[in-house]
Amino acid sequence: MKKNRKLQRVTILGSTGSVGLNTLDVLSQHPGEFKVAGLAAGSNVQLMDAQIRKFRPEAVYLRDPEGARLLARSHPKLKIFTETDKIHSFVDHLDADSLMVASNGTSALLSVLEAIKRGRRVALANKEILVMAGSLVMRELARNKEASLVPVDSEHSAIFQCLQGARLEDVSKLILTGSGGPLRGIAREKFPKLSKEQVTSHPKWKMGKKISVDSATLMNKGLEIIEAGWLFGLPLERIEVLIHPEAVIHSMVEFRDGSMLAQLGVTDMRGPIRYALSHPKRLEAPVSMKLDLARIGSFHFELPDRSKFPCLEIACEAAKKSGSAPCVLSAADEVAVEAFLSDKIGFIQIPRIIEDVLSHHRHIADPDLGQIQSAHAWATEEAGRLCKAL
Ligand code: MG
Repeated sequence: MKKNRKLQRVTILGSTGSVGLNTLDVLSQHPGEFKVAGLAAGSNVQLMDAQIRKFRPEAVYLRDPEGARLLARSHPKLKIFTETDKIHSFVDHLDADSLMVASNGTSALLSVLEAIKRGRRVALANKEILVMAGSLVMRELARNKEASLVPVDSEHSAIFQCLQGARLEDVSKLILTGSGGPLRGIAREKFPKLSKEQVTSHPKWKMGKKISVDSATLMNKGLEIIEAGWLFGLPLERIEVLIHPEAVIHSMVEFRDGSMLAQLGVTDMRGPIRYALSHPKRLEAPVSMKLDLARIGSFHFELPDRSKFPCLEIACEAAKKSGSAPCVLSAADEVAVEAFLSDKIGFIQIPRIIEDVLSHHRHIADPDLGQIQSAHAWATEEAGRLCKAL
């Protein structure tokens, strides 16, 4: 009977990145549930070639045209899209049941909007899209009742799970937990001399480079506050950050009667990925995904040190301003982090660049798609200029 059941077709944007690889791993653990519809990546042609051979997608997208040509030579029958085709035309062509957005930055915004319009499931691992264009995405979602937007970010997945069956009016606050990142125990005086390796070696999670730096600056928590505000429709003052070094509790919800619900799990992105694709049901996970609480023994909590990590405050300010400010924040952060990773600026210059860009920005209260795109382009350019000037 299982054989006749319709498999959920999944398109993955960012299939060669960290979340993309984990998603493919989850899909291969449940062959009776899922099928790969499409894979999209930037330029990693070798890995894409291996993924095509293993997962037999219906179509692929490789941004790099030279790489796409190489793929076409090895896979003459496969439909291959590249830069000139636009990523959303690839997504539209497949029209899969689920779209896993595991790509960096904001390139997938139009794909997300289109998938929602078509009533599909969007599993969102990328935070920039909601940070930049949360109002547009949520408006589209409200218009299309068939569609669903399921968070993959571990904190938001935790809150989403805690809220199943709950009424929003009963929620008093959301508590986003964070391990504190790799610099929690390092004195602020050492920050000017931090190497890339120190900054990107996260104590609990294996992630891509950009998000690892964001975790070290705590910008990641700031972006997560903005993301949570859009996803769960709660005012920002009712979204808190709590440092929890063991990283076992992935986030919590406090209800008005004082009751709190928490979601616990191992620090493995395959947990939230599996749930985002299987929701509302749950699928059997391997034993490695099961927690051993007796071994962990104890949990600790503390408030984040906002003076040591200015990015958190900068993000909260941009969140309060709303409108085009979060988009500018996210774009400037992307550029500053990239500049840090390519040794162009030091670690402590990341918040300075972002703050500088925000202070020069002409704010738009309720931006449309075009205004968001131009605010993003402006902030990218301005941040690039500032990085060069340093
Ligand atoms: Mg997270």
